[in-house]
This record gives sequence, C-alpha cells and structure tokens, in this order.
Amino acid sequence: MTSELSIETTQLAQTILGASPTPFIVHNKQKETVYVNDAFTAQFGYSLQDISTPDKRETTVYSNREYASKIRDLWDKCLKDGLQNSTFKPLEMELRCKNGDYRIVTAHATLLSEPEGNLLISLNNITEHKRAEEMAQLASTVFQHTSEAMIVTSAKRKIIAINPAFSSITGFSEADILNESTSILLSKRYDPEFLTEIRNIIDLDGCWKGEIWARRKNGEEFLIWATINTIYNKDKTVKQRVTLFSDISEKRQAELLALKQASYDPLTSLPNRTFFYNRLEEEIKNSNITNKPLAVLFLDLDGFKVINDAFGHPVGDKLLFEAGKRITDAAPNEDLVARFGGDEFTVLLPTLNDLNQVGRVADQIITALNHPFQIEGNLLYISASIGITIYPDDALTADDLLRNADQAMYFAKDSGRSRYFYFTQQMQRSSTERFNLIQDLREALALNQLEVYYQPIIYLPTKKIQKAEALLRWNHPERGMVSPTDFIPLAEETGLINEIGNWVFHQAVQHAQMFQQHSPDFQVSVNMSPVQFKAQNDWAAAISEVYFSNCNLVIEITEGLLVKDDKQVIEQLLDFRTAGIQVAIDDFGTGYASLSYLNKFDIDYLKIDQSFIKNLSTDSSEMALSEAIIVMAHKLGLKVIAEGVETEQQSRLLYAAGCDFVQGNLFSQPLPVNKLIELLSSEKTAENKLIFE
Ligand code: C2E
Ligand code: MG
Ligand code: MG
Repeated sequence: MTSELSIETTQLAQTILGASPTPFIVHNKQKETVYVNDAFTAQFGYSLQDISTPDKRETTVYSNREYASKIRDLWDKCLKDGLQNSTFKPLEMELRCKNGDYRIVTAHATLLSEPEGNLLISLNNITEHKRAEEMAQLASTVFQHTSEAMIVTSAKRKIIAINPAFSSITGFSEADILNESTSILLSKRYDPEFLTEIRNIIDLDGCWKGEIWARRKNGEEFLIWATINTIYNKDKTVKQRVTLFSDISEKRQAELLALKQASYDPLTSLPNRTFFYNRLEEEIKNSNITNKPLAVLFLDLDGFKVINDAFGHPVGDKLLFEAGKRITDAAPNEDLVARFGGDEFTVLLPTLNDLNQVGRVADQIITALNHPFQIEGNLLYISASIGITIYPDDALTADDLLRNADQAMYFAKDSGRSRYFYFTQQMQRSSTERFNLIQDLREALALNQLEVYYQPIIYLPTKKIQKAEALLRWNHPERGMVSPTDFIPLAEETGLINEIGNWVFHQAVQHAQMFQQHSPDFQVSVNMSPVQFKAQNDWAAAISEVYFSNCNLVIEITEGLLVKDDKQVIEQLLDFRTAGIQVAIDDFGTGYASLSYLNKFDIDYLKIDQSFIKNLSTDSSEMALSEAIIVMAHKLGLKVIAEGVETEQQSRLLYAAGCDFVQGNLFSQPLPVNKLIELLSSEKTAENKLIFE
C-alpha cells in the first residue's frame, strides 16, 4: 500500500512538475541530476542527459570553471544553512542556455525525502527584472549626473522631479519648484497662447522640441533647446512627461557673431559686400511687387590712396571709419549703406517715390565728405565720386546694376571728382573701350608702339638745356598718340608699369649716353610710379655697368612715397644714391610731403607743380608760395625746377625768385630723341645762344 501510494505520489508529482511553467530539476545525494521538467528544457534548452553529472553541469551551464566553483561553494553553504534553519535562502546565479544565451535565475532547493536525500530545485528566471533594475539604475545615474537639465512633470503638468543640472542652470532648487507649473520657467516675452500652442502639440503628438526663451530664478532670460517626451500608462493615458533642455545662449551668441563677421565689415561696422548684394537682390524682388524703382549709388573716395600712402594705414583706417559714418548719416536708411571694399561704399535707395530724391542724397553725401577730417592731429581732405544706376531702367540684375553704378562712378572721377553721374549706355561702351585699351597696352611694347620723348629742362642762370625729362609716348595704330595721363594709370592698375617702366629706364640710359656727347653733364630724368617701388629692379646695377659720368640720371618720384617710413622705399632710394642716381620730387605742392621729409631722404631736386606755375603773377599767392618753396629748398641744399612754364612772364618771375631750372612748352614740347639731339647740336653750334630769346 505504502509503495503503491509512493508510486502514485511520484507520478502525481511528476505530472504536476511536468505541467508547471517554472523550471524544476531534481538532484540526488551524489549531486547528479535525475530529473528535469519540460519548462526547464524549454527555457534552458538542456535535456536531462546534457547535465546529468556535476561535471557536465559545470562545463555547460556556467560561463567558466571559476564561476562554477564559486557557485558550488555558495550552493553548499546555502544547503547547509537551509538544513540547519529549515529555510532555504535562494541563490542568484547566471546560467548559460544551450543556445549560448545567458539567464539570471534564483535557485531555490527543497529536500524531498530522507534517506534518498533528493533535492527539488526550482529556477526562477529573473533576467527581465534584473535588466529593468539595471536600466532604472542607469536612468537614475544619468538623471543625476547629466549636464542637461531634466524635469519630470505629472499628467497634470506639475513638476515632480528635477535633476541637479536643472538647478545649476536655472537657479531653482527642488523646494522652489516642486509642484509648480512649468510655465514658471517661461520667458515673459511670450503671451499665454504660446504655451497653450506647445501643450496642444504635446497632447497630440506626445512630443515637442524647439528653441524657447526661458527664465532663471533671478529673472534673467536665456535661450534653451528643449525636448519634451511623454511616458504613457498601459491604458494609453499620460503618466509623466520628461523635459530635457540645455542653455544655448552662448552657442547662439557665437552663431550671431559668425553671422555678423560674415555680413559686416569689421573696420567700419557697416554691412559688407555680401550683405549688400543679398539685400539688393531682395529689394529687386520687392520693387517688382511695389512697382517702385530703386537706385544703387556706388561711391569711391577721391584722394584716399594718397592719404593712405602718405600717413599710413592706421590713419587711413580711421578716415574710412569716419567717412562711413558721414555717408550713413547722409543716407536715408542707415542699414542700406555698405562698405563694398577698399575705399568704395554702396548705398541702396529702395522703393523710390520720387527719382529726384536720388540726386539729393548723392549731393548730401558729397557735401558731408567735403568737410575736412581731423584725424590724429592731421587735417585731411577727401571727396567722393558717385555713380548712380536705377532699377529697372538701366539693368535687371544685381550684378549688372553694380557694374553700371561702378562705371558711372569712374566717369564722375574722370570728369573732375567730387560729383555724381547717372549711368548711361554710352558709359557701358566707354568701359568696354577701356578694357580694350588695357588689352592693347599689354602688347604695345612687343609691337614697338612705345617711344620715349624728352622735354628739355633749362638752367636759368645760363639759359642752356642741361637736362631732359623722359616722357613716354604710345603711338596706337588706330587711336594715334595716346596720352600718358590716359594709359599710365591703366599700366599701374594692371602692374604692366613694371615692365614698361624698366624699358623706359634702359632706353633713357642709352639715350643719355648720346646726349652726353653734346654736353658731358647732361642729365636725363625718368618718372617712377609708386607701384614700381613694390617690385625689384636692376637699375642701380645697370647704371654702374654703363657708368658714364657723375649723376647723369635723375629719378622723379611723387611726394606720397616719402611720408611714411616704407622700408622698401628707403632701401631703394639708398641704392640709387650709392649708384649715383639723383632723386627729384615731381609735382611738388599737390601732396602731403613737408620740407622736412626732403631733408631726411636726401633729395636733390624739387619740381614745383604746374598748377602753381599756371597762375603765377606778381602778387599772386602762387608767387608767394613758389618763392617760399624756392628759398626753403635752397636752404636744404635742393635745386628747384618749375614745370609747365608757358609764358615769358612766368619764366621771368621764376628767375627773379631764384628758381634754378624751368621746363615747359615755352622752351620746347617733349621731343623724339633725334629732335632733341638736333636741338642740342644747334644750341652748341649757336655757341650758347639763348634758345628762347
Ligand atoms: P610729369 O612727370 O609731371 O610730366 C610733366 C607733364 O607736363 C608732361 O605730360 C609734359 O608733357 C607736360 N608739360 C610740360 N610742359 C608743359 C606746359 O608748358 N604746359 C602743359 N600744359 N603741360 C606741360 P605728359 O608727357 O603728358 O605726361 C604726363 C604724366 O605722365 C607725367 O607727368 C608723368 O607723371 C607720367 N609719365 C610720363 N611718362 C612716364 C613714364 O615713363 N613713367 C611713369 N611712371 N610715368 C610717366
Ligand atoms: Mg615727371
Ligand atoms: Mg610733374
């Protein structure tokens, strides 16, 4: 009976265990596995056969032998404690399934019967629970330590948790803010509808992200980037909302700065070329809608380069800044004045009701710039040449409008500066011509179209030709003689002046040797543009090679070169001196040089500018100035040459004032080489007869 019952009981137990969803195994006293239920095989993949001996078990279900032996020790201890206290403390362990996955289980043992001493062991899979616990731990760590501020709100939008980053960013502690509405954090700049709108979106989509102005505890406003997400209950009702945000004020400031740098000129703080261009394109579109014309003014400062060269860039920069301010004050919309580059400014006049307004604005700007500038103790004079073009009359694109206005500006400059010109189609043609002239100039040397003429310079005490100035002539196949005042600026602009200037110099050296056969002391002077000082030349070496007699060559430079201490200029002038080349200041009185510079740089000649000579009469201020220049130059050991002498009276007055040399059409126009040689021979044969008597 007992054994029947026992068999029945065993079968019953096996049926129950077999149907149980909990994995069970049975160990005998030798620790061999004698039974596994279906749930065990289903969850871990092992059959009884796979884990029947302790050794098999240890090598399959544990990750390594070390872990296996640790678990064995703990298990033995749990069993021992369990037997003593009659309660078994479950043991947590990690098991490897047959397919290689790992599961975390709690193993619980029950002693089935004595004397067999079988143990029924249940294995509770707690993997998911463990993972959830770990995730919660992780989330809590992130919540506590992240640099992003976090707020958890209830379904009723009350704040229920904040993290330390939130407190450090906003200044609000838990005590300040728990159970408050998130609206406490919103900047006062928004009206209540703004928050309602965001809340509606969150209700609908469950999430929202974007930039908002927030408020710290101290009232300070700052820009944040916020992300709001919703956590739902199983029944889809809102459980909580989590808001994450970071302070992006600094980032935004950096972005704004970058934008400013990309759109504004750092020197004048005015919009730059890019900004202006974009704005112009916008206003063109606008004009198409309003049907009102717009005007573009292109402005170039007259005389700026001279000041920049003479006083140096720091003074030039300040002048540009001041000029920018005056232009802005004179223009109707200050945000539509740009520094286009260098000494060029542009002004946009959109939505014009009256086209006459354009001329008035141009006049105001010119007047504003005509007043002298007081900069670092210097009184500086500039003016402005302005070109104007109208949309849609003159052109339809921003590029074409700017080109038109630029061309019109050139015409304003050419016709005497300090004025404005409206663009015309004729200007377009002239600009094309200018372009063609540059193309022709590139080939002029190779095609033998250039020739050096010489204008005699007379020594007043003996009235003999003692020098001649080399003046370049361009014999253009179609245009005829092109004046150097027309093509030298183009040559300077394109850099061609270096090649051309070198050629003139070497020609002059050759010709000087010819002139000297008639008069051994004869000097030839060569003009040298400031641009040429920036390039290397072999003049000093060339002069020493053909060294004929002392000081046969004079280089004419302009005043502007001397005012600033340019190392290259000083070295070049020293080289000239060492090679026996003398230096003259051309067009003296039109620039900014003072007599002290002349002394410092060891200058030999001063050429008084034609503009003084033109108006020379007994009591004129030009006479007084010329006399003063002559006296002071002599005191400094310089000789004076008067340029552009056209009348006997001018010549006499200059002679009386002690002027050393004269040059001008009164005596002779610039001549080709052979004509000058003829003149020199006739002068000789006439035995020093005065050629202009
Ligand atoms: P500049 O060096 O001041 O030369 C004097 C200019 O005055 C010359 O003009 C000359 O023909 C002109 N002139 C001389 N006497 C009289 C006169 O009595 N009345 C009038 N109204 N004008 C007179 P040009 O030859 O047309 O040269 C103009 C300028 O071109 C020169 O002014 C000089 O700055 C530049 N230039 C000429 N040749 C060269 C050259 O080879 N290299 C460089 N860099 N510049 C040159
Ligand atoms: Mg000259
Ligand atoms: Mg001159």
